Amino acid sequence: MKINYPIGDIHTFSDEETIRLFGTDAANGISQSEAKARLNQFGPNTYQAKKEKSIWIMLYQQFKSPVVYLLFVGVAAGIYFKDYIEAIAILIVILVNALIGFLMEFQARNSMNALKEMDIILSKVIRDNQPQEIPSEQLVPGDIILLEAGDIIPADGRLAELNQLQCDESSLTGESLPTLKSTQKLPKETALGDQHNMVFKGSSVMNGNGKVIITATGKHTQLGIITSLVERAADIETPLDKKIRALSKRLIWLTLVMTLIFVVTGIIQGKDWLQIIKTSIALAIAAFPEGLPIVSTVALAYGMLQMAKRNAIVKKLSAVETLGGTTVILTDKTGTLTENKIFVDTISFPEEQLKASIKDDKLTFESGSVGKSAENLEKLKLVSALCNNASIKSLSTKKVLGDPIEIALVHLANSSGSSQQQLKEQYERIGEMPFNSNTKMMATLHNSQKGKFVAVKGSVEQLVEKCTRIQLGSVIKELNESNRKSILTESEKISSEGLRVIAFAYREETELDSDNYLFDLIYLGMIGFLDPPRLDIKDAIASCRKAGIKIVMITGDHPLTALNIAKKVGLVDEQEQQVVVGKDLPAGEPTPGWRDKILSTAVFARVTPKQKLEIADVYQQAGNIVAMTGDGVNDAPALKKADVGIAMGLRGTAVAKETASIVLKDDSFGSIAEAVFHGRVIFQNIQKFVVYLVSCNLSEIFIVLMLGFLAPASVLLPLQILFLNMVTDVFPALALGLGKGDKSIMEIPPRNIKEDIISKKGWIIICFYSLSMTLAVLLAVIFCREQISSDSEVLNNVAFFTIAFAQLFHVFNMASPQSPLLNNDVTKSKFIWLALLICTALLALVYVIPSLKVALHITSITSATWLVSIVASLIPLMLAQIFRVIWKNTLLKAGLPAI
Ligand code: ADP
Ligand code: MG
Repeated sequence: MKINYPIGDIHTFSDEETIRLFGTDAANGISQSEAKARLNQFGPNTYQAKKEKSIWIMLYQQFKSPVVYLLFVGVAAGIYFKDYIEAIAILIVILVNALIGFLMEFQARNSMNALKEMDIILSKVIRDNQPQEIPSEQLVPGDIILLEAGDIIPADGRLAELNQLQCDESSLTGESLPTLKSTQKLPKETALGDQHNMVFKGSSVMNGNGKVIITATGKHTQLGIITSLVERAADIETPLDKKIRALSKRLIWLTLVMTLIFVVTGIIQGKDWLQIIKTSIALAIAAFPEGLPIVSTVALAYGMLQMAKRNAIVKKLSAVETLGGTTVILTDKTGTLTENKIFVDTISFPEEQLKASIKDDKLTFESGSVGKSAENLEKLKLVSALCNNASIKSLSTKKVLGDPIEIALVHLANSSGSSQQQLKEQYERIGEMPFNSNTKMMATLHNSQKGKFVAVKGSVEQLVEKCTRIQLGSVIKELNESNRKSILTESEKISSEGLRVIAFAYREETELDSDNYLFDLIYLGMIGFLDPPRLDIKDAIASCRKAGIKIVMITGDHPLTALNIAKKVGLVDEQEQQVVVGKDLPAGEPTPGWRDKILSTAVFARVTPKQKLEIADVYQQAGNIVAMTGDGVNDAPALKKADVGIAMGLRGTAVAKETASIVLKDDSFGSIAEAVFHGRVIFQNIQKFVVYLVSCNLSEIFIVLMLGFLAPASVLLPLQILFLNMVTDVFPALALGLGKGDKSIMEIPPRNIKEDIISKKGWIIICFYSLSMTLAVLLAVIFCREQISSDSEVLNNVAFFTIAFAQLFHVFNMASPQSPLLNNDVTKSKFIWLALLICTALLALVYVIPSLKVALHITSITSATWLVSIVASLIPLMLAQIFRVIWKNTLLKAGLPAI
C-alpha cells in the first residue's frame, strides 16, 4: 500500500482513521515483509547525529601541537644550515610520533564505538500478529507498538488503546508534570504539549500502558525536527580530563624553569649559543607532556572495553573514575543479589498452608492435595491469570516474557482446567492499575458473566488494607482484626525464610466504576516465592568490604525477606537483627540521630523510590561517594542523584538505563564489584604511566644539567633526547596504560577522588626515580672516563644508552606496591614485554643502521663500555626495589601504586 508520508496533524484523526491511513491493523500489526519494504522506503528510525571525525582530520590533528611546530622549526633550521641528515631525522621523529598518536586515537575510537553498539534499545512491536522485540531503529510507520511504564518512546505515534497512560514529555515540551493520555480526536490547533492522543519520540512512560500506531520515524519525528535545528551539546570535560590538564600545565611550568636554568648555566660556562638553543628546545620537548591526554584516553577506552566484557557498560566517561573512588554501594535485592528466577514454594490460605511446586505447568503439593481451600485455590489461579502482564511471547525463543513473578503465576494459572490464555479471553480486561513501587500492588478489571471482576495482587500489608472480606473455602466472611493479624503473622513467618511474598484478592460485582474499584476486596491467600540468592556474589561482597566499601541493601520487599537474603549473601552477619523499614523513616529532613541510624544500617526494606533518594542523600552529605542501583521508572531521580547510577540491563526500564551512568548486562552485584575493580585499575594505570613518563622526562633534564657541569662534552644531543621521548618512552607508557591490574588493588581503601593524579608524596617519589636514573648515567660516564678513558663521543653514547636502558628497566618499578618483584601485574603483562621488545629493536637499529648512526651521533663502542652501560642502567631498578621494601607502608598510605 502506498502511504503519503509524512502525514501531519494526526491528532485530528480518529484512531481507526489513522490505522487506515497507515495501512495497518491494531491487533495484527503489519507483516514482516511489509515492514521490510517500508524500512527500505522510509529509512531507519534514526536521525543524523553529530558526524564522526574523518580519518584524515584525525591524522591531520596529530600535527597540531606546539611541540610539532617547534620541531618543524628545527627541520627548517636543518635545511637552512644544510644539515640535511638532522632535518630528515627530525622529520622521521615527527612522523613516527604522529603515527603512534593516530593509531592510539583510532583504537580508542573503535573501542568507544563498540561500546555504543552494546547500548541498543528494543521496542515491543506486533508484526504478523506476533508480539516481539526489535531494535527501535527498525521501526517503520504503521508498526503497532506496546508501551509500558519505564519505556522510552521510540518514535512518534497515535494512541490506539491505553490504561492510565502518563508520559513525561519534558524533554520535548519543557512541561515537567506528566501528561495523562487519551484516544480522543483533537482539534487542529491543539499545541504539541496538549496532543494527548499522541506520543512523541524521546519522552518516557511514567505510568500505565498503551498501544500505539507509529506515525513518524527518524528525522520526521518532532524530536528529529528539533534535533536537526540545534547541534548536540558538546561533550563535557570529565574531572579526570581537568586533572590531566592541570598536571600538563604544571609540567609546562616546570619545563620552562628547568630550561631557563639550563640556558643561564650554559651562558655562564660560555658554551656555544647554537648548541644551547638547540638543547633547550630539545629539553622543552623532553618535559612537555604531549602524550598525556591521548594515552589517558586510550587507557580509559581500553579499560571501558574490559568492563563491558565483564558486563558493565559505561555510559558516562566520568563514572569510571568515580566508580574507583566509591565508598558506599546502595544495592537492590531482587535480581541483583538474588537470581530473579522465581519459583512458587509455599501457598498459604487462611485455613491451610501448603508446600507446593510447579513443573511443566503441573501443580503438586508436598502433602498430597488441597482440602478445605479448594475454592481459594481456583480463585487464586484465576487472579494469577488475569492480574498478569507476562504473556508476550518472543518469537525466537517461544518463551514467556515479563516479570519473573508474573511468569511463575502464568505457569500456576496454566495448571488449572483452562489455560491462562483461555481465562483471559473469558474475562475480557477493561481496566488496569499497573504495579508501581509506591503502591506495591497491581489490579485489573474484567467483564465476567456476573458483571465485573476485579483481580488484585501485591504486598501483604498493603493489600490487606483494601480487604473487608475473606474467602474461607466455599464461604465468604467478614475480615476481622484477628484474621488480619494472623495473615500478617503468617506473612512474617514465610518472609523470614527468605521467600518473597505476594498476596491475592478479588471482587465480583454486577456493576463497578471503572476508575474506582480497589476497595471492599475479598482476601484469598498468599504465595511465598523462592528467589534464591546468587551464589557467586558472596566473594564479590567480601571483596568490596575488604576494599573499604560499605554495601547497603535497599529493597521494596518485606524486612524479614530482606534480612534473610542479606545474611545468605554475607552482607550482614548471622546475628544482625537491624532492619530499617520505610514507613519508620522520617518524612522531612532527618535528625542527627536518624542520620547516624541510617549510616549504621545495612538493610532497608519496604522503601519507596523517594526514600531511596533520601538515603543516598544522607550518605552523600556524610562525605561518601555513592553508587546506587535502580531499575524502575521511579528510580531515575535516585540514579541521577547518586555519584554513580547503575541501571539493570535485563530487568531495568529504558528510562533507568538512559539516566544511569553504568548499565549492567547481567544485573548481578558481582558485576558491580568487577566494575569497581576495573575503575580502580583504570585510574591506577593512568597514574602509573604519568609517574613513568614524568620521571623519565625529569631524568633527562637532570642528566643534561648535571653532565653540563661534570662532563660537558658528553651532554645528550637534541636528537637523542627527541628519540628517547617521542619514540622509546611512548611504548612502555602505553603498555602501562593498558595494564590488567592486580587483585591487591581491592585491599586498599577507596581513593579520594578529589585528589590530584599525583599527590605530594608522589612527586617526591618521582624525584627519587629521576635522580636515581641521573645517578646511574653519571656513574657510567665517569667510570668510562676515568677507568676506560673513553673519548667524548663514546661518553655521550654511554650516557645515551644508559638512560635508554634505565628507562626501559624503570617500567618494572611500576608494579603494584604489594606485589613481588618477579611475579606482578607488570611482569605478567604481554603489552609490557612487547613494548620492551620494540624499544630494544629500535635501539639495536640505531646502533647498526649507518644513516641512523650518523643522525644520532652514535659510534662503535667496545663490549667493556656496553657492559658498564647495562650494569649502570640496572642501578635505578635495584635502588627502587630496596626502597620499595623500606617504604612499602608509606607508599600504600599515599595510595601510590608505583615503586
Ligand atoms: P524489590 O525489587 O526491591 O525487591 P519491588 O518494589 O519490586 O521490590 O517489590 C516490592 C513489593 O511489591 C514486593 O515485595 C511484592 O510484595 C510487591 N510486588 C512486586 N512485584 C509485584 C507485581 N508484579 N505485582 C504485584 N505486586 C508486586
Ligand atoms: Mg523490583
